[in-house]
Amino acid sequence: MNDIAPAVLVTGASRGIGRGIAVSASELGCSVVINFASDSAAAQDTLDSCLRVRRSTAQKFVLVREDLSSIDGIARLVDGTLRELGRIDALVNNAGIAPKVRTDITQMTRESYEEVMRLNLESPMFLTQKVVNYWLDSRPQALLTAGFKVIFISSLSAYAASLDRAEYCVSKAGLSMVSKLWALRLASDGIQVFEVRPGIIETDMTRRVKEKYDRLIAGGLVPQMRWGKPDDVGTAVKSILAGGFPFSTGDVINVDGGFHVQRL
Ligand code: NAP
Repeated sequence: MNDIAPAVLVTGASRGIGRGIAVSASELGCSVVINFASDSAAAQDTLDSCLRVRRSTAQKFVLVREDLSSIDGIARLVDGTLRELGRIDALVNNAGIAPKVRTDITQMTRESYEEVMRLNLESPMFLTQKVVNYWLDSRPQALLTAGFKVIFISSLSAYAASLDRAEYCVSKAGLSMVSKLWALRLASDGIQVFEVRPGIIETDMTRRVKEKYDRLIAGGLVPQMRWGKPDDVGTAVKSILAGGFPFSTGDVINVDGGFHVQRL
């Protein structure tokens, strides 16, 4: 890596998968903007973990507290990143929520639908638009191998229907198309786009359904017969950031222990 470290912006990086991605980016030699919504202590833990594994003192780690369900929060995150690090080389759209209450689709409220769609779908669309316009307008020199990157963290829920969290499934299916659209638009501009699709990952999000998934995994739902870890997703993202897919864009990378393979 150069004297200037490539800058990676990770949304929702205080906990779970986002933390795994931030730490992996640090291992690779990148500076990281650690965005979060409210849990400052957890965000500081992520920053400390990044510092422990960094490869050079050129790498900087910055905490940016912004609620990305607001369009103003999105603008402030990008402006703050450029102010602190002077550049962005990769954007990882990771922040996401599950519905507060799992209810059958017949009982799903409009409030829950809008809340989930706003953060999981609208926010990555417009955050990506803002970062892309910075790249297209400012034309910075790329520091990462194979160019700038946008990564969307979707979910197996992009294709697997769960009737008790329909709004989540719709948001992730939509995100999958957002990834394709940006991939096509940016392919000739030296910007790669990937959808990373995690399976069942052990984080705060899945804590409340842990026993159910323990049973399902033991019963063979996941061919590799284990929970995924945030580091599994971080390692996949690190491969993309490292330039491991130079002649690819718009791809879906499953990180799910084989869940997506249809069986008979
Ligand atoms: P998590 O442990 O609940 O962490 C969520 C992260 O998002 C936290 O850093 C949180 O910040 C941040 N966040 C929440 N609301 C935000 C907002 N309005 N603005 C900015 N940041 C916000 O979730 P996770 O399991 O790591 O999930 C991360 C992503 O992976 C999500 O997009 C999720 O849909 C996806 N995913 C998860 C799984 C799984 O099994 N866990 C599977 C497939 C896909 P605070 O700490 O400040 O609250």
